[in-house]
Amino acid sequence: MVLAELGTKISNALKNLNKVDVVNEETLKTVLNEIVTALLQADVNVHQVKKMRDAVNLQFKVQSSQGGDARNLIRQLVVTELSKMLEAEKKPYQPKKGKTNVVMFVGLQGSGKTTTCTKYAYYYQKKGWRTSLVCCDTFRAGAFDQLKQNATKVRIPFYGSYSETDPVAIAEEGVSRFKKEGFEMIIVDTSGRHKQEAELFDEMKQVAATIKPDEIVFVMDSSIGQACYDQASAFRKAVDVGSVIITKLDGHAKGGGALSAVAATESPIIFIGTGEHFDDFESFEAASFIKRLLGMGDISKIVDIVKEAVPLEDQPKLLEKITSGNFTLRDMQSQYKNILKIGSFSQFLSFLPGVGTSLMGKTNDKENIAKVKKFICIMDSMTAAELDGQAQITPSRITRIAKGSGSFEIEVNLMLEEFKRLKMMIEKMSKAKLGGKGGDLASLARNPQQMMGKLKNIVDPRMLQQMGGMDGLMDMMKQVGKMEGMGGMGGMGGLGNLGNLGNLGNLGDMMKMLGGGKK
Ligand code: GDP
Ligand code: MG
Repeated sequence: MVLAELGTKISNALKNLNKVDVVNEETLKTVLNEIVTALLQADVNVHQVKKMRDAVNLQFKVQSSQGGDARNLIRQLVVTELSKMLEAEKKPYQPKKGKTNVVMFVGLQGSGKTTTCTKYAYYYQKKGWRTSLVCCDTFRAGAFDQLKQNATKVRIPFYGSYSETDPVAIAEEGVSRFKKEGFEMIIVDTSGRHKQEAELFDEMKQVAATIKPDEIVFVMDSSIGQACYDQASAFRKAVDVGSVIITKLDGHAKGGGALSAVAATESPIIFIGTGEHFDDFESFEAASFIKRLLGMGDISKIVDIVKEAVPLEDQPKLLEKITSGNFTLRDMQSQYKNILKIGSFSQFLSFLPGVGTSLMGKTNDKENIAKVKKFICIMDSMTAAELDGQAQITPSRITRIAKGSGSFEIEVNLMLEEFKRLKMMIEKMSKAKLGGKGGDLASLARNPQQMMGKLKNIVDPRMLQQMGGMDGLMDMMKQVGKMEGMGGMGGMGGLGNLGNLGNLGNLGDMMKMLGGGKK
């Protein structure tokens, strides 16, 4: 995703703050210029960029007079204002389980509506919702066939017509049928046009007036650059857009333009599309996104992912495994299965950092998934004792396991290496709780100072230097800890202590650091 480049540029600009001796308005100007250039290069709307710059300048004037660390102030202001840029005041519609939710999708032709409808449907279906799809695109030839194929692939009931030409009639009929049948989620795909034109908007308005959707989702292709803002505004004027989904963020799109859709529609981005597959779909939350963009870690996202992927009753167990260091091949296997359940490796990356960093790197998500599948298959050929760490895995066993799973011995070895790496990391992580009583990971996380004390012994000094020494690391953590308040830490529910890790910054980075400690 090219947006990552934007993130790197912004965080580099912020890092440069450490290089100057005195921080004043001149420094701020330089930093802001760099950030503004980066945003504009990424196609973010000019007016929004200006608004953000003015806000940072103003806040700096107001707040710097109150004393405090000017560097931190600038960092904080930039993050806050960037998040604001992405956050709409309006909260997105929260579909309610157990009742009928009608969600209508709108957008230009080719923006990814039909694909996104299916992704959205699949997302809710995986959560156990009774989900259905209605195709009222009678404009594009083959539209119904496309939706039918998609729906069939993910096994979701659909409605459409080959003979009816009136989209309003189809929408009405489809929605009322699925309502009668008690579907919880009825997703209505509409037609697009190549460009914004009156005919399309009229059709959209009529459909909306007839089915009275609970939510209208505007789907926008991220690759259209600066045109995003105007397009989004036009749709917003025509219908009551409630939220936005940005597609094709996997391609070469600079992505920044799409972010302007928030301002144009005054509606939040709820998901992003990152590929053509139905699970190339990520939920989106502004503050998390900005932090991730700037490499500041994002525990809330990890928590969400774990909540989504790991059955509720297993969550405490998993956390205990992770914090106790008592991690077996069987645990790794079940984590891998969870990865497959989410269908995206990169999403899981931060949660199982050891596995993540080594498997990710240059290869892409799909290759990683293939690798995970292979490893699961290899583990399936192992005995229970081997999986539970109660039996030695001898060379002759490796040969057998390779045969049994239809893989090469080298692949079995790779998997075992991976396991060793992960286990080592988790053990190091658990050693961080040297403090005995109250020294467990969660309590430590509540107290960064104490945490840092413990970490000092295990962190790779080179790494530490890179991060601006102990103080830099400390600052970073404090900042992330503070920022958690900005959003995203809600709903910790079943995860118990993990919530407290908010102060820790990115568990992934932390683990990476720990891993780098001894080589
Ligand atoms: P519609 O005309 O708005 O319904 O758009 P479609 O759903 O038919 O999508 C148009 C094209 O964009 C198709 O080839 C999709 O596979 C592709 N597409 C949709 N979303 C994404 C995405 O997130 N990433 C990529 N790479 N392609 C996408
Ligand atoms: Mg379509």
